[in-house]
Amino acid sequence: CGIVGYIGKRQAAPLLIQGLSKLEYRGYDSAGVSIANNDKLVIEKAVGRLSNLEAKLNENPVEGHVGIGHTRWATHGAPSDVNSHPHYNKDMTISVVHNGIIENYLHLKEWLTTLGYTFRTATDTEVVPHLVDYFYKGDLVEAVMKALDKIEGSYALGILCSHEPDKIVAVRKNCPLIVGLGKEENFIASDIPAILSETRDIYLLNDDEIVVLTKDKVDIMTREGLPIQKEVYHVTWDA
Ligand code: GLU
Repeated sequence: CGIVGYIGKRQAAPLLIQGLSKLEYRGYDSAGVSIANNDKLVIEKAVGRLSNLEAKLNENPVEGHVGIGHTRWATHGAPSDVNSHPHYNKDMTISVVHNGIIENYLHLKEWLTTLGYTFRTATDTEVVPHLVDYFYKGDLVEAVMKALDKIEGSYALGILCSHEPDKIVAVRKNCPLIVGLGKEENFIASDIPAILSETRDIYLLNDDEIVVLTKDKVDIMTREGLPIQKEVYHVTWDA
């Protein structure tokens, strides 16, 4: 239901929680974050209110300057800790937050199962980290593009990979997603209010645009990898 991502010099966890709290008005049943910490991805999630996730993070603080966060409105799989996002692959090198519905997830789940993948959740989303894992040969963007070719449905996705911890890859199709531009930091969010306290310079993404964020740069490209130039939209209103 809600997505926030941060890459920069500040600690990601508090900014993710702050952003998700601004999206609370949309409703949700659970929340979670994934943060790149050295060469690992740390994942914390909790069913129920955002304060449950905050309590977990206060107990076990997670350091790191790159992260993605999610508030979930369950469509496939009951609200629970395990079904909360982010979802991840077997060795936890790839983590994914998702808004929307993967319509052909049962078919993909069957196919991935025959390839030896095991599923730990009842969600449609979990096919995504396994698909990206299957196609990953050292280039996250390329793996995401190949995974998207297999996916039918609606999505806004935020994706981290521990082998490329200096970037966030995101994409949308029939679900809102924007980019927030900062100084030596960048953001993604499903809605502008999530990041309005941090930046007013925004890229509004269109369907099928893939975005790669680093601390210093935002690259937008087509599904085929061709670069897209975009005007900065400056937000003059207040949330
Ligand atoms: N379909 C996904 C799920 O049920 C995402 C729902 C959402 O947009 O929050 O986990």
